[in-house]
Formats: sequence, C-alpha cells, structure tokens
Amino acid sequence: MSAPEARNDVSAGDSLDHDMHSGWGSAYTNRSTVGDKETLSLWQEYAIDKAAVDRKYQLLLHEYTDLFYKVFNGYYPISMHAHATDSINPTTIASLILNTAATSPLVLDSESLRPKADEKPEETGMRVRDFALNFLGWNETHVLAPTFVVADNIYGAGYGPLAHASKEWETSAIAAGPKPIVVNMREADEETLNAQFAEAKMKGAIAVLFDMVSTEDGLVFTPEKFGLVKACCARNRLLLIVDETMTAMRCGAPFAFQRSEYARQGAEFQPDFVIFGKGIGVSGIAISFGGVMTKGLTYTRSEDILQTIRYWRALVSRPIRTPNLLEALSILRASVAENWPEQSERIGEVIRDVLHELEPSTKESGAIQGLGAVIAIDRDIALRHRVMCAIRRRSPWARLLPKLGSISADRDALMKQVFGKESKSQRQALSQEAERCGAIPLWCFICGIEATSEDWCRTCYLSYCNNEVCVAAFHRHACV
Ligand SMILES: [Zn+2]
Ligand SMILES: [Zn+2]
Repeated sequence: MSAPEARNDVSAGDSLDHDMHSGWGSAYTNRSTVGDKETLSLWQEYAIDKAAVDRKYQLLLHEYTDLFYKVFNGYYPISMHAHATDSINPTTIASLILNTAATSPLVLDSESLRPKADEKPEETGMRVRDFALNFLGWNETHVLAPTFVVADNIYGAGYGPLAHASKEWETSAIAAGPKPIVVNMREADEETLNAQFAEAKMKGAIAVLFDMVSTEDGLVFTPEKFGLVKACCARNRLLLIVDETMTAMRCGAPFAFQRSEYARQGAEFQPDFVIFGKGIGVSGIAISFGGVMTKGLTYTRSEDILQTIRYWRALVSRPIRTPNLLEALSILRASVAENWPEQSERIGEVIRDVLHELEPSTKESGAIQGLGAVIAIDRDIALRHRVMCAIRRRSPWARLLPKLGSISADRDALMKQVFGKESKSQRQALSQEAERCGAIPLWCFICGIEATSEDWCRTCYLSYCNNEVCVAAFHRHACV
C-alpha cells in the first residue's frame, strides 16, 4: 500500500474536511491516536506476539480503568458494550445496580447480611436480594419489567425499549420491550416533576435518563433543570443516568454535566451512571459512587470499588478485546494531551462565528443550538454549505460534530477546507482519493445514514442513499 503517496494529496493527520458527521460523533480526531510511544510499542508487539500482549491484559485493563477515572473525574468504566444502545437496556441497568448493591460494603461488612460458608446458597441469595430491593425501593415489578423515565425529546435509541420514544417512525416501528415513561422535563415545575416521578416509580421505573443536548433539536438541558431532576430522583429513589454518547469531550468538559454551571447544581450528588460511546474506543456504562442512589451504598475504599467492578466484569468472558483496549487507551491519552474538552469550547465559538458571517440570520437567538462543539443548525443552512452532518431525514435540525483537533478552531482553515468556495480543491482531492480505492463518501448528505450511490458528486465529494426523498434533495444541491 502506498499510503505516503496518498498523503500528499489529502494531507493526513491534522487535516480538516467537510465531514462533520464524524460517524455520529464517534470520531474525535482525524489524527491517528495509536502513535503515542506506549501504545505503538504494544501494537508492534501484538502484531508479532499476540499472546505476550494478552498476558498483560489485566494490567492494561486496570491502566485503562484508572485513566478513565482520572479523565472523567471520578467515573469508572464498569460495563463495556459493543454499542451504546446495548448498554441502556433497563434490564442491564437493573442487573448492574443489583450487583452493585449486593457486593457493597453495606452487605459485605455486615455481620448479618454477608454470605456465610455454613448456610444454603439459596438463603444467601434471598437475603442479599431482599436487602438490595429494599435499599432501592423496588418490588417484583422493578425486577421483572424495569423501565426508565425519559425526557420527551430523547432520541429514543436505535432499537429496543427506548426506541418507543423516538419521533422517527423507522425507529419507533421496531421498538420492543416495556415502554419508557415519557416526561416533559423542560417545562415541568418541581411539584409536577415529583408527582410524575413518583407515579413512574410505582409503575416499575428504576431510573431517569436524558441527554444534556437533545439529539432532536439541539436544545440544552438547563443547569436549574438539571439540579431539579437530581433532587426529584433522590426523593423518589430513582437512578440518574445521563447519556453522554454524543456530548462527552465535545461540550467544554469531559462529561457535559461536569461544566461548572451544572456541577454547582445539587453538588451533593452525581449522576449514578453515564452512558459513553464509541468515540472513546468502546461503549458502555460508567459509574460514580457518589451518585443519587450509589452514594448510599457507602463505597469509600478503593479496594471495595475495584472488587465490585471485578465481580461485574467477571460475568462476561472478557469485557473488552485487547485491540479495542489498546485503542481506547490511546484515545484517552490523546484527549489529555490535546485537551479536547477545552478545545471543544473554542472550536464551538469559532464555528458559530463563521456561521454568523456566512449566514447572518443565525445571529438571531435560538437559530443555533447545542453546546461547545455540538452545534445544531437549520438543515437548509448545512445543505447550502455542503457540509456532511449528523442529520435525520425528517428533522429540521442538522448537527455539526467537528473533529477536536486544534485546526477545527482555525477560522481560515474552516473557510478554505469546509465552508467556503475555496473548499473545492480539498473536496476534489478527497474525490480522487476515493476513486483510486473504489470508495464513496461515507454518509448520505441528506439523511446521514450510509451513502450507497455510485453516482455521487465528484465536485463536492458528497453522496446519498437510495431513499427517494434523498435522491431528489441531493439532485437539487448547487455544486461548489
Ligand atoms: Zn439518505
Ligand atoms: Zn456537487
């Protein structure tokens, strides 16, 4: 493969292009993250002697867990999954919190509760389970048919129970499992919210789930509302789960709710669980032991914490494969070295400025939504400037999810390589590269799913899928 040759045309590494879809936000950088010394040597070793690297597996997993804890200020990556949607299944969350309660110091340090060698295993099981249900305020309904309370503007995942809440019919039509309880969290006052949470809890809700920036319209969860939801969760003994799949690293803090204006609200408790996504190399659930519910489990010693994590991870053969682990480690290291959270704030400001200049109408309040480097704009504006976005067919909003390298905050580079007429040469270089290897632009320019058309635009480096709405809209685009 003659990679160095290709690099002359489409400058690799710190380059910019009009792909602000970024795999639904799962690509944080165009730069290779495997280049840091520690990881590169492991990759090289892995290519020659896989078993030798596999023998370091636990060591690497501990290193990853420690680094994640530091980067995300006290959150542990306890549960790993192939896709974020797999991790926000109510039954998975229910099992996870039951395990966390059953292996907590409240049980293991208690003379009367802890497992005894001389009793029947069923008796231990019943006793520990009864304790956990009592602690969580659960009955059989919560165990057998657990569900979530979700904000009414949540994206409704891709499939499974949460898909019921989706506004896209393709998603809601394939929803399965108990319906989540949808609550309008933006407008409800404390009294209403409390009443709704209490009723939901009675019906089997175990947790409240929302995202800080709506995937629907880019609206941001306000700090006041965040504090209120936290308080209502605590009062009704509901777990608080924040989905940061899209917002981690991109919104001016490691997790968006760690921005100072949120951190100040109800600082006594954290969200119990955070859903993280593929951008950081693996998807899964991170846990805080200072959460609305988890705090009461009195995990203070790190050996107790690592033990419960170990118990949970032991339920699967290997929580994360070695190559993924190496990649996840190097992504976290890059996030520290390049300070992505801080960078994202600057990138967001510069891109908003560019949009104000190109489209003065975006200066009106509410015309641009989002937070930091999650930027939601009118889809027509995105189409007019030929930017590939994380977009859905029927949503009037397009989301720009730029890469977090410093070049994304370079106003000139943004004009020359993304938004302006001058981006023509960059687009053509990308087209030539694609033609050489038989590839096409990744995403449908109109609806954001995988592009399929061979008849894509070589001038703009844009393609489309075979949906007739997309075909028609694509052919209306004006070339650069
Ligand atoms: Zn399409
Ligand atoms: Zn074109």
